[in-house]
Amino acid sequence: MSTVEQETQARSNGAGAKTIPVTNKATGELIGHGPDLDREQIGELAARARKAQPAWDALGFGGRAEVMNALRRWLVANSDRLIQTISDENGKAWEDGQLELFYTADALSFWGKRAKKYLKDQSFHPHSPFLIGSKVILRYRPYGVVGVIGPWNYPLINNFGDAIPALMAGNAVLLKPSSITPLTSLLVAEGLREIGAPEDVFLVAAGSGGTGTALIDYVDMVHFTGSTETGKKIMAQAAETVTPVTLELGGNDPMIVCADADLERAANAALFYSMQNGGQTCISVERAYVEEPVYEEFVAKVAERARTLRQGVPAGPGSIDIGAMTMADQADIVERHVRDAVEKGAKVVAGGSRNERGGGIFFQPTILRDVDHSMEIMKEETFGPTLPIMRVRNTEEAIQLANDSQFGLDSSVFTKDRDKGEQIARRIEAGATVVNDCMTNYFATEVPIGGIKQSGLGARHGPMGIQKYCHTHNILVTRFAPKRSPLFFPHDKLTTKVIGGFIKLLYGRGGRRKA
Ligand code: NAD
Repeated sequence: MSTVEQETQARSNGAGAKTIPVTNKATGELIGHGPDLDREQIGELAARARKAQPAWDALGFGGRAEVMNALRRWLVANSDRLIQTISDENGKAWEDGQLELFYTADALSFWGKRAKKYLKDQSFHPHSPFLIGSKVILRYRPYGVVGVIGPWNYPLINNFGDAIPALMAGNAVLLKPSSITPLTSLLVAEGLREIGAPEDVFLVAAGSGGTGTALIDYVDMVHFTGSTETGKKIMAQAAETVTPVTLELGGNDPMIVCADADLERAANAALFYSMQNGGQTCISVERAYVEEPVYEEFVAKVAERARTLRQGVPAGPGSIDIGAMTMADQADIVERHVRDAVEKGAKVVAGGSRNERGGGIFFQPTILRDVDHSMEIMKEETFGPTLPIMRVRNTEEAIQLANDSQFGLDSSVFTKDRDKGEQIARRIEAGATVVNDCMTNYFATEVPIGGIKQSGLGARHGPMGIQKYCHTHNILVTRFAPKRSPLFFPHDKLTTKVIGGFIKLLYGRGGRRKA
């Protein structure tokens, strides 16, 4: 997309003169501009979204699903342009961009079909003796205007991708993408305009971190994906107005390789899931624990393959394996973690250094051995193309080390014994675990996935992945409505005693365990 087109889009999204230049992260070239909206402009966007929302809600699940399906077809029809935009503004390989399209197209279809089922009214006959004959209805109502704040590492999946269930629930959405990767979100907004979607139900609130701060004050609910540090600030700000938040934050995902694992598969998976997207995936493998008998063989396999990876400027399908680092600050963290590990005794068996080429920032695919938990790389989120591999005596030690973390996002276990794999998985402190693969649970959209500990609050996917964009509304319809209920005023001794007798009768006995 040309700079001129981007500026037009920026204006149509409410931007005035202020814009932020966007570069191709692998070459440093200027490729467009994103709006840099201020507080007043965010207020205007929120007012437009608020006005558009009731009609969008009234369209119903079927009407909204039609819009989602039309957008899905538009994204696929424009896939080359979309993937190019993602790849350019992020610096990632074509295949990493294509994965974003795959997830998003699937999510549009999934939420289009499932939203109604997950949000349908439920009726209950309450068990309480006070409510005999009554009917209770549980409804899910959209909050109104939802703010989605997204990171730079997945400009489509973790930005518009999280807006899909919010929209299907009947909300209008203000999406705040990262200031360094706003073009993909603007392209989705263009797609919605082209398919004739109702105006103002999805608006891109692009700008800096300050734009995000303003947005929180104008919306009814915030879904945030980004660093743990920013997530804490957002939670604190939202607390001022008791605005609900869900947080998808950082991770330091462990991989456990048992001595009985298929080492060939484990090594291939370790390499791919630590390096894909330049290692800049929240659920990428950040550290591996390998049982002693297979440690040397595993390290040798991974290191040998890491040295064959092609890194460089993405130039279409199949051109490279690993792209650029998207942010200079992130490359600094990667460099610091590798240096710290080496100073404390780790050995680099592949890569190990920064690799500037042209205007892009690259970090070589890096494999470290002889690491331990005194090192930052094992304790913090590195978010780069690195894999530290630690030798462990047995699976007990591996589980204990995997759980020795402030984070708890995804995790993985490799063993040929699937039952054993499941038992180990059950003991890992994380929001998700995969046996004999990694990350793929992100595509199981029927099941919630989210972080525990400092990796987040709430989850995406499954029923709760859309119910979180709604408040519940409990409607009780009383069937027997005499003039006076035993609970009404005035209190009298006899009624109180009768109720007391009932309490004793109903709850004073039973429930004891048999010896
Ligand atoms: P970040 O926290 O720096 O920024 C995320 C977004 O928040 C950006 O749009 C940014 O402009 C905005 N922002 C910054 N300060 C703000 C503030 N005070 N108020 C409101 N908005 C503000 O994160 P990042 O560097 O863009 O992304 C990388 C991080 O995201 C990594 O830690 C990664 O693990 C995490 N991440 C998590 C998931 C997940 O699902 N758990 C997915 C992708 C990325």
